[in-house]
Amino acid sequence: MITRSELSVQTISDFGCWQEQLAGAITSPEQLLTMLQLSPELLSPALKACQEFPLRVPHAYINRMELGNANDPLLRQVLPVGEECEHIEGFGLDPLAEQSQNPTDGVIHKYHGRLLLIVSGACAVNCRFCFRRHFPYQDNRLDRDSWNSAMEYIRSDTSIKEVILSGGDPLATSDRRLEKIAAELNHIDHVETLRIHSRLPIVIPDRVTDDLINWFARQRLQPVMVLHANHANEIDDSVREAMFRLKQAGVTLLNQAVLLKGINDSASALIQLGEALFKAGVLPYYLHLLDPVHGAAHFDIPEVKATRLLKEVMANCPGYLVPKLVREIPGRLGKTWIS
Ligand code: SF4
Repeated sequence: MITRSELSVQTISDFGCWQEQLAGAITSPEQLLTMLQLSPELLSPALKACQEFPLRVPHAYINRMELGNANDPLLRQVLPVGEECEHIEGFGLDPLAEQSQNPTDGVIHKYHGRLLLIVSGACAVNCRFCFRRHFPYQDNRLDRDSWNSAMEYIRSDTSIKEVILSGGDPLATSDRRLEKIAAELNHIDHVETLRIHSRLPIVIPDRVTDDLINWFARQRLQPVMVLHANHANEIDDSVREAMFRLKQAGVTLLNQAVLLKGINDSASALIQLGEALFKAGVLPYYLHLLDPVHGAAHFDIPEVKATRLLKEVMANCPGYLVPKLVREIPGRLGKTWIS
């Protein structure tokens, strides 16, 4: 089996700095199919699906895909396909009813004690299963006015102990802006924890810059990073090195995955993911059932199969490598555990 990285003449450092890698992400299905030596028959459905949600995937992530394999588990997470255009009952544009839990622009407040700031509407990669693929980021910009309102909202609610930077991907924003955000939160005494939900260190490990590491090391707030990897093949040496540096800076590292048909819907895939994460210093935290978002129904796994898979994982792994199987149900004050 020949992998892209064996054939490639590029190394991670050849991709440039993380901003260049973001800017240079592949957005043309034709280019992606050519790079991976895939059938041109995949092009027409990909172009159609792109009209609803564009393709976006950086070189550092493509480099981990297998040439000529249309079923590569990383490719399937990013390649637009015809099923995305089908309208399936129960799959909508706002599957978690987040737009009704939006007290002020850029803020989502669903759960007691913690609140989410939409720091960036940009992502390094457009994941086809994303529950926010239709989210109106343009109406949720944290500009100067909305930022002041958001800070006032956090200041006035002393139950908020944890602020979660989300998006899009919050690490798509600059280190300088992150520093400003944290500096303001540092002045709010009741905020104790800063959590970052990001897929960027997985898809572009070079995002873990010295400045980012130094910023974490200086925090008053307890830093937690929840990464998003769905398959063991996503975790290569460059990701392990990035995780090692984050750990050295005192960041607690957890992973949330989504259970996805054709990508990680077997006990062996989930066990390998947990082991690969652990070797990188990351604990599996959540395994989410798919949120019913329009365009992603073809990834859905029934709850009964998910439960069976998790039992197999439990039978073969130590408890700390078994993620919690959860579903998010709009209106509930926390994730719903599936037992
Ligand atoms: S990186 Fe996260 S927010 Fe962005 S498309 Fe993927 S799942 Fe959605």
